[in-house]
Amino acid sequence: MAGFSELSDSELLQAEELREAEEPRSARDPDGAGKRKQAPRPLDRYALRYLCVTDLAGQSWCEQQAVFGMEEPRPPAPETAALLDAGKSIHLARELEVHDLVKIPTTSREDSWAIKILNLLSMIPVLQAVGHVRELPVFGVIEGVFVSGIIDELRYNTKGELELNELKTRSRPFMPGEAQRKKDHFQVSLYKYIFDTMVQGQLKPDVFTNHIHLRPEQPLGCQLRKHAQKIGFMITSFGDLLELMHLNLMFSDIPGIDCLKIEYSHQESSVPLGTEVVPYEEATVKEKAQYFLAYWKGQREARGVDIEEAWKCQSCSYSEICDWRKKRAEGLEKRSGPKKSK
Ligand code: SF4
Repeated sequence: MAGFSELSDSELLQAEELREAEEPRSARDPDGAGKRKQAPRPLDRYALRYLCVTDLAGQSWCEQQAVFGMEEPRPPAPETAALLDAGKSIHLARELEVHDLVKIPTTSREDSWAIKILNLLSMIPVLQAVGHVRELPVFGVIEGVFVSGIIDELRYNTKGELELNELKTRSRPFMPGEAQRKKDHFQVSLYKYIFDTMVQGQLKPDVFTNHIHLRPEQPLGCQLRKHAQKIGFMITSFGDLLELMHLNLMFSDIPGIDCLKIEYSHQESSVPLGTEVVPYEEATVKEKAQYFLAYWKGQREARGVDIEEAWKCQSCSYSEICDWRKKRAEGLEKRSGPKKSK
């Protein structure tokens, strides 16, 4: 089996470029004078046609920080950047253990999304044959918003259950605290929620055209068509691929995910720190997703962290510009009364 990726140096750059390419100019700079139109829904204000699972998980840490990250992306602190790079290398090495990576040049937004869908399609027979896969793309619609993500690993355990494994690398040689674990639990639970709806046949072709405004009639690039043919798919247009994806998922007989696990390992030594089995409660996942998406849909304002989690502000790159933090400090001052003059 081969995995496909876009012909580009940096996956992070790809993601940014993809979002940039999808951003309609009218929303970013409507009058061409650098002013941003204030759309009522943050989704429209930032011209986002979809969100990533990691965006929603980021809200679980601090929603205001996630919004700053969208508004004014800043390079991560050197320690975080090193951790991200190490994490990426480990993920890539693990991915290469199960398949080769073929770089395919893309010429349209439809080509870029077709690569993700081809990756998904190539993994369906592996899962049907009780094999294991890595970097499996998932797509779905939650509360009317398109959400996309990538599952680290899916495999069948000794009990024959389909098990999701998420790898997290840490700079410190011990297991994370409660807040980080809560964020990670939500992330993997969302993956399961989306994957399960996909294998139940709920991912319809028009989801891609309605939500991300991709053109079904768009012919796919010739390199992409050649690679699709090599893995058994005769396709011409993006719409052909969407139909194939829908039919393959609907008739796949792949079960839903039975078990969620997160493996933590120390970045520097690669020593495993521990594995968590995550309990899954669909009602809680749906409720949390609904709450986080309500911000993006303009139904409520963004929130920062409460006083109990104010320690998060100490390492936040946006602490100097964060009004939430300032107001929280002012509120505390008022409650403790005026300072006595000496
Ligand atoms: Fe959130 Fe605190 Fe950062 Fe503000 S300073 S964005 S409240 S973590």
